[in-house]
Parts: sequence; structure tokens; C-alpha cells
Amino acid sequence: MVRLILDTPGGAYPVTVGTNLQRELRGAVARLNPTGVAVVTDTNVKPWANKVAKTVKRAGIRSSVYAVPAGERSKSMAELEAVLSFLERERIDRGGVVITVGGGTVGDLGGLAAALWQRGVRLVAVPTTLLAIVDSSVGGKTGVNGRRSKNAIGAFWQPSAVISDLAALETLPAVSYRDAFAEVVKYAVAMDRGLFDLLQRNVPRLLERDLGLLERVVFRCVTAKALVVAKDERDRGLRAILNYGHTAGHALEAATGFRVSHGRAVAFGMGVAARIALALDLCSRRTVEAQDELLASFGLNTRPPRVDAKRVLAAVALDKKARRGKVAWVMPRRIGKAEIGHTVPGAVVRRVVTRALA
Ligand code: NAD
Repeated sequence: MVRLILDTPGGAYPVTVGTNLQRELRGAVARLNPTGVAVVTDTNVKPWANKVAKTVKRAGIRSSVYAVPAGERSKSMAELEAVLSFLERERIDRGGVVITVGGGTVGDLGGLAAALWQRGVRLVAVPTTLLAIVDSSVGGKTGVNGRRSKNAIGAFWQPSAVISDLAALETLPAVSYRDAFAEVVKYAVAMDRGLFDLLQRNVPRLLERDLGLLERVVFRCVTAKALVVAKDERDRGLRAILNYGHTAGHALEAATGFRVSHGRAVAFGMGVAARIALALDLCSRRTVEAQDELLASFGLNTRPPRVDAKRVLAAVALDKKARRGKVAWVMPRRIGKAEIGHTVPGAVVRRVVTRALA
């Protein structure tokens, strides 16, 4: 088991990573001395959430479970209202605690409910997908989708503790597990050469879900994210580095109507970003190849399905991180180091994206 303390302006909290962490969970919740606990989960993860509720009850704290339908569609205002009604029914007062048990969907939805209820009650995150463990459970971004825009309604609300029990990953579908390695490779290429080497040496063991090894990998990812979030909680500068691969990645998701999974889209986006960096002489060909090879070994081919390059290019221009019409690219310089805030000539973007989709 490993633990780090993430220190942000919004609060300092421990992130614990390991297997079979019931005792740690019980301790973390008991230390908060809550008047009651509301567990928010989804229909697929409910058995795991029931276990969490039982663990909390063993500490003598009342708790109940509410499950939203599994899937992204639950990140909606309607579901948010349903969760808030659950908190009201359960008489969660300002001394209460919300525990989210699930992937990024439940974490974002339940986290926003915690931020809003009684103008904010404490939150404990128990992420159960690899994506949520390495990314969404850390950093305090919560939210639901608008009718047409993703993550448009939200708040920064840091949890009081994150308990990442890797045992939950045993039931995670293979596609979701593998997809999360796009984010893991993102941390490695953008920020952590040592992680890149560790991944390169251990692909088969990681694909077999060797939990001991996974603990080391997860810890490095969480550390990378923590370093960034501690300096830029509100996403005003440095935090953009976590967006590596996401400019073209989000554009591909939008242009395909979200038919391409997020992991595959990010892998594609990293391929595009690295090729742009190569074209601008910001990184070497070897860097591009090493990234391609590592992504491919996790089954994350950087080549997407057939889609019209014009639609992807139009979506790039609408990137939500663009300021005054200028898209700010995150560019790799070498494995383990990326830079934020690069403007790229339109002709280069067009050439690279068109070639990547040919
Ligand atoms: P998800 O939460 O929808 O989970 C994917 C599927 O796996 C769901 O069907 C879920 O029920 C199931 N599942 C979860 N854990 C399981 C387990 N242990 N065993 C079996 N099935 C399990 O998806 P996700 O990929 O975890 O998260 C995606 C969401 O995260 C998106 O909405 C994205 O916007 C958000 N996100 C947020 C942040 C942030 O910083 N807040 C960062 C990245 C992504």
C-alpha cells in the first residue's frame, strides 16, 4: 500500500493506493466523524458499493446506497437532482459525508452533488475504474454534461480522502482497462521518463493485471497529477499539461459522435501532437516512434476508424482550451517532458491530421 498527501488550496487530503483497503477506508471515514454517510454508485458497481457501506457501518456510522444507471448519460442535471433528493431523504446534514464508488461518471456526478448539497459536504472518493484511479478521482474537478456540451456544469470540490482499492479492477471489462493506458502513457510521455521505462518493460504483466506492479504504476500517475494540481488547482496554466493528446483526441471524439472510445481518441491525439512536434523540430523521430510502439503494445493503435479529416479539423478549432481563437497545443520535447501553450501554424495541423486519417 502507498499513500501520498495532495496539498491544494482547496484542502490537503491523502490518496491511498493498494489492495483490500477496507481497514483504510473505515479509518479514513471514521476520522471525519460524520453524522451520516451517503454512498453514490452505479448499477454495475453496486455490489462493491454495498461492501463499502457495510465497512462504514462497522465503524458504527449510518450509511445507505443510491445507484444511478451505469454510463455517461447519468452525468445529467436530471440524475444530479435525483442524487440531491437522495441526500435529502437520507437527512445528510453539514456533518455528513458522500462517498462515491465507481468510475469517472459516478465520481463527477456524486462529487458535484457533494459540492452543492448544504453548500458543500465532505466527499470520499472510492474509484473503481483504472481511468478514475489514475485520473478523475484526483484533482477536484466535478461536473455533469449540459444538453450539448460535456462537463459544462461543475465545480472544483476536493475530496477529503481518495481510497483506490485495486481489487475493484478485477471485474473491470477488458476494453475499459486497456483504454485507461492511454492516460497512463500520457503521464509518462508528458511528465515521467521513469514511468515510460517501467511501462515498456512490463506490458504483458500489466495487461494481466498484476496488481503489485499496477500499484507502482498508479502511484506514479497520481504523483504526476498531484504535482500539477498542487500548483494549478483551478486549471489556469500548468494543469493544461494533463491535456497532452486531448486537443486532437477530443476533436476525434466529437467528429465521430463519440463512437471512438476516449482512450483510443487520446492515443490518436498523442500521435497527432507528437507528429506536429516533429514537424516543428520540437522532438525527434525516435520520440514519436517510442510513443507509437508503447501505445500499440497496449492495443492502442493511433490509427482511428474512417472519418472525414475536415470534421476533425473543424472540431480542433473549437477546442475548449482555445483562447481568442488560438488553440494552445501541448507538445512533447522528449519522452518524459512536454510543454504547454504552443501555437501551431494551421497548415501544419491540417497536414498532420489529414495524413493521420488517410
Ligand atoms: P464510467 O464511470 O462510465 O465507467 C465505465 C463502465 O465501467 C461503467 O459501465 C461502469 O458501471 C463500469 N464499472 C466501473 N467500475 C467497474 C468495476 N470495478 N467492475 C466492473 N464494471 C465497472 O467511465 P470512466 O472511464 O471511469 O470515466 C469516464 C468519465 O470520467 C467521463 O465522464 C469523463 O468526463 C470523466 N473524467 C473526469 C475527470 C476529472 O478530472 N473529473 C478526468 C477524466 C475523465
